[in-house]
Amino acid sequence: MKSFEKLLLENKAWSAEKKAADPDYFARLSKAQTPEFLWIGCSDSRVPAEIIVNANPGEIFIHRNIANQMISTDFNCLSVLQYAVEVLQVKHIIVCGHYNCGGIKAALSTQNPGLIITNKWLMHIKQTYRFHKAEIDALPEVEERVNRLVELNIVEQVHILAHTSIIQSAWHHHQRPVLHGWVYGLSDGLLNPLITRYPGSQIDPIFKYDFQTGTSG
Ligand SMILES: [Zn+2]
Repeated sequence: MKSFEKLLLENKAWSAEKKAADPDYFARLSKAQTPEFLWIGCSDSRVPAEIIVNANPGEIFIHRNIANQMISTDFNCLSVLQYAVEVLQVKHIIVCGHYNCGGIKAALSTQNPGLIITNKWLMHIKQTYRFHKAEIDALPEVEERVNRLVELNIVEQVHILAHTSIIQSAWHHHQRPVLHGWVYGLSDGLLNPLITRYPGSQIDPIFKYDFQTGTSG
C-alpha cells in the first residue's frame, strides 16, 4: 500500500469509528462551526494544534505558516483573522510557536537568494532579531539563541495582532478577543504562556486607530 493510500484508509476507519460512537456526529458538525479560538501556529508537522490540546473538530479555527507569523500585508493571514474575529467572533487568539523551529533557525542564517523562505518570508524575523541582537548574541549556544528568538518572535506576533484595525475594532466594540502567545516544547510536549494581551490594553500611539472620530482604516 502506498503511503497516501494509508491516509485514505485511516480516514474511512476514523469516520466509521466516529459514527459508531455517535451516529449524529457529522450531521451535527456539518450544520455550523462555532469555535472559541483562532490558532496561528507554525506549519511544522510536529505541532498539530488540535492534537496537542486534545481538541475536537469544530473547536479551533486554524491558520498555520512557517514560523507562525502575522504579517500585516499577508491577505491569507488577514482574511483568516477578519473571518475569525468578525464572523466567527472568537474569544481568544493563540499565537503558538515552538522551540527548535526550523523557520527561526533559517532566519538566523545567511540569505540564500534562491529560496523565497529565507530572503522574503523570514525577513520579518530577521528584523525582530535585529531589535534584540545584543541579548540574543550574548547567549553562548546556537540552540539557546534560536529558542530565545522563537520566544521573541511569538511576543512580536501578538503585538502585531494588536496593531491591526481588525483587533482594535473588536476590542473597542466588543471587548474581545484576548490575545495569547504560547511556546510549545518539542521535547516535552508542553505549552507555556509567554504573553497575554487583554482587550483595551495599551497600544503605542503610532499604531492606534481612532474609532471615536471615524478615522479608522
Ligand atoms: Zn516551526
